[in-house]
Amino acid sequence: MTVARPGPQPALARERERAVLAAVPVGLFIDGTWRPATGGGVFAVEDPATGDELREVADATPEDALAALAAASGAAGGWRRTAPRERADLLRRVYELLIERRSDLALLMTCEMGKPLAESVSEVDYAAGFLRWYSEEAVRINGRFAESGAGGGRVITMRQAVGPCLFVTPWNFPLAMGARKVAPALAAGCTCVVKPAAQTPLTMLAFADLLHEAGVPAGVVNIVTGSEAASLVSPLLADPRLRKISFTGSTGVGKQLVRASAEQLLRVSMELGGNAPFLVFADADLDTAVDGAVTAKMRNGGEACTAANRFLVHASVADEFADRLATRLGDLVIGRGTESGVQLGPLIDARQRDAVAELVDDAVRHGARLLCGGRPMARPGYFYPATVLTDVRPGTRILDEEIFGPVAPVVPFSTDAEAVAAANESSYGLAAYLYTRDIDRAFEVAGELDTGMVAVNQGTVSDVSAPFGGIKQSGFGREGGPEGIDEYLEIKYLALKVGSTGNSS
Ligand code: NAP
Repeated sequence: MTVARPGPQPALARERERAVLAAVPVGLFIDGTWRPATGGGVFAVEDPATGDELREVADATPEDALAALAAASGAAGGWRRTAPRERADLLRRVYELLIERRSDLALLMTCEMGKPLAESVSEVDYAAGFLRWYSEEAVRINGRFAESGAGGGRVITMRQAVGPCLFVTPWNFPLAMGARKVAPALAAGCTCVVKPAAQTPLTMLAFADLLHEAGVPAGVVNIVTGSEAASLVSPLLADPRLRKISFTGSTGVGKQLVRASAEQLLRVSMELGGNAPFLVFADADLDTAVDGAVTAKMRNGGEACTAANRFLVHASVADEFADRLATRLGDLVIGRGTESGVQLGPLIDARQRDAVAELVDDAVRHGARLLCGGRPMARPGYFYPATVLTDVRPGTRILDEEIFGPVAPVVPFSTDAEAVAAANESSYGLAAYLYTRDIDRAFEVAGELDTGMVAVNQGTVSDVSAPFGGIKQSGFGREGGPEGIDEYLEIKYLALKVGSTGNSS
């Protein structure tokens, strides 16, 4: 039975929330200073757990966006030429400040995005991890030296900053999706303009304040908040000063941005939607698989691109797995993410809640059976309970579309080949999870899955030290690990003539 907490909060906690919200600078951060939007426009940010307004934030105009790009372009030469060690030390300082301010940042994130406080704390740590990792990578940007194959010279390569970048980020991980771009970009010597999601701009603004405090020079990072995303992004994509766009968000918007970026032939990274299969083989340790399923499904309330979307379970254990998962998910404590003990917060808005409800209703209409949940909750905010479905027919919308909510459809399979075929039956290709005790099967199945990432016997894939990214309609490019910095570096080749014949060693 799902427990709903109306939970009035102690006055002290409310007071702290108000103080954290009031401390956010809500202007545009351009060229190292805070300024209002041209014309003074603002838009409201709301609490998804109550629908109440939290703050008003500057609503940038296209001119403001271009001013931010001018600042990033103006700072690019100076930043690119800083000593790698200087950039490394600065990123390290940002890491330390993030850890120091973890608790306030997490509270802010929960207020505007809704996830339970403990998950926001984890996100701050995850985001900070990118600052630390790329502080370490900044001083390891190498090239290559070789003798020319034809003789007569040497081949030298150097890797240089791509130049000013545009980062467009989603609301589901308000800090980490930005930090995962800003950290490698700054380490490589790139400057940037960040356009956070309109629903969760406060965390990114607080991050900008912290970058400023750490000493990141004016113009290196610029933040533009706005309610009309296309009107801010389009003029930047058309401007020859911009050299790269990195986008995290839906596949539909990603495709539009890829098309628009063709005009200037920009470097492009796309972290898009997912429809992760979660495979449980007959020989899996079921305790571990159920634990992993709870994590892979419920992290961020299911509003994650890596969220397990389809549970493909061997027919011999499918019923037991579904029952155990339903018991675990049905017991989750639901409420405002700031309240202690809450394990599942609201969805981001009414549109998202209604979209989830529609997918579940459609599955039920087509014969699926509800083991728990299945109806939006009658309370303020946008709550939908954790839901488990069985007897889901192949071809049902809920198996084809990204659910982005706390809903787990369970589908049985009989053979490994059938499981792999069902897993690959998706236009997306971001993450997959598989559970087996057989190491040969793990490698074979992992090799056959059409995804950029495969988690074996664990419910998470995100790792600062690993290359995160997808294939197919989940996009291209990698974030994190040693690979992540390549997205921000161009290769320049020097052809070197050696000696009068070019043959001396
Ligand atoms: P979204 O609607 O695509 O929005 C993402 C960002 O793009 C927001 O900043 C949004 O601004 C902006 N945007 C929207 N329309 C635009 C346009 N026409 N031109 C330029 N910018 C535009 O996605 P979302 O709903 O925020 O995020 C959920 C999606 O992100 C899911 O599909 C999820 O799978 C994906 N995601 C992927 C990853 C990954 O790493 N692969 C990670 C997290 C999320 P506004 O907020 O102002 O609309």
